[in-house]
Order: sequence, then structure tokens, then C-alpha cells
Amino acid sequence: MRVLILSDIHANYEALHAVLDAAPEHDTVWNLGDIVGYGASPNEVIEGVRGLGSLFVRGNHDRACCGLSGLEDFNPIAGRAARWTQAVLSAGHTEWLREIPSGPIMSSDPHVTCSHGSLLDEDEYVMTVRDAWGPLQRTEARVNFFGHTHLQGGFATNGNEWFRLAPQYNSRNGSAQFRLALRDDGRYLINPGSVGQPRDGDWRAAFAVYDDTANVITYWRVPYDLETAQEKILNAGLPERLAFRLREGR
Ligand code: ZN
Repeated sequence: MRVLILSDIHANYEALHAVLDAAPEHDTVWNLGDIVGYGASPNEVIEGVRGLGSLFVRGNHDRACCGLSGLEDFNPIAGRAARWTQAVLSAGHTEWLREIPSGPIMSSDPHVTCSHGSLLDEDEYVMTVRDAWGPLQRTEARVNFFGHTHLQGGFATNGNEWFRLAPQYNSRNGSAQFRLALRDDGRYLINPGSVGQPRDGDWRAAFAVYDDTANVITYWRVPYDLETAQEKILNAGLPERLAFRLREGR
């Protein structure tokens, strides 16, 4: 089975569109959350993803934008964007967001899980090998997908050694792929990166494809219509920083 793994789309319709255009043939889609928040197209993005795929995990922005949690933990810019999103979301889309379960979620394969943040706490950021240690010690699953940090890559261990996974690309233009062959004795935390607001210094939309027959993860980056996404953010009256950071990939 080939699975398209999407995370942190953040209401960026242009990035989502480019990803779906570029994605290779796949059997299903797993969505790791933060579908909305920050970007200017929450209704269009929900419309675009809700019919796709079989597995959804909620993110902290999804939770806040549908009123399931308060905005106390959000910085002022994230809070402003969440309030804007609450105001423009259709009632049906708000209702749909409220129904998304929290992670970790087991896929049909018991050796695979999906979370937004850490396996141990949906709001925790897994940024370092040290952060990855606890979840990877405790999970029974071999492959564990997560998002939340907007950093493509992840972590791996064979029980003795611990590794950071960081896809290497030759250029910052055009689309690019990086193939990771999974080892049978390894245990993995895999972050497909953020579709709509990458923070690893590469502005291109990020996603991953998991082939459980070939035992391979392919990380992808694809360019998208950045200017239109930025213009929509500015026209919506959202904080300017949310438009400018897309170009920097920060
Ligand atoms: Zn996010």
C-alpha cells in the first residue's frame, strides 16, 4: 500500500493544490493535523482534504479554531489568526474539525501510528533526539508519523544508536525527492514536513509517501504559487509576518 502523508497544511490552499498535483499514485491519505490556522483559505482547504483519505489526527490549531480549546497557549500572531479563522469558517467545517480525534491513532497496521505532536502528548514538540527518546522507547509500533514542528525528517533508533533524519536536496528550486529505506531492526519517528508553512529553511511545500510493501519513505518538496498564498493572507488582514515567513520557510 502507498500512503500519502500530509501534515500542517495551515489553510494554505496553493500549497495543498501543488502537493496533490505532484503526489504520485497512492492508495490512501493520512492527515496529521493543523489543517487550518495561519493561512487565508481554511474553508477551501477543508473542502479539499475532507474527502481525501481515511485517517485524520487533530492538531492544536484545529482544536483552537473550532473552539475546543482556548488561545492562552498561542502567541499573539497565532491567536489573531485563530480568531480570524473561527470567524470565517463555515458552521459545517467547524463541526467537522470538532470531530477529528486526537492522536496517536493506529492505522490498520498495528506497527504504524499517527500523531500530531509527540506520541505521549499531542501538544509536545519533538525537535531533538532527546525529545524522540521517550516516545520511541515506549511505542510498540515500528513506524510512527508525526508533525507539529514543521521540520521535515524525523528520528530513528536501532535500540543502541539514535539518529536524526534530515532529507538532503541538491537545489531549492523545482521539485525534489529523498528516499529513505527503512530497516527491519529500526524504529522510526517520521515527520513529512509541513505542506503549508515549512520552517526548515526551505519554502517549498513538504510531504511524504510511505510504501509499506517496499518499506520505503519518500520525502518530497514541491514549489507552489507562493505569491498568491501571501497575497490572500495580506488581503484577509492577517498578520503580515504570516505572509513573509512563507518565503523564508521559517
Ligand atoms: Zn502546525
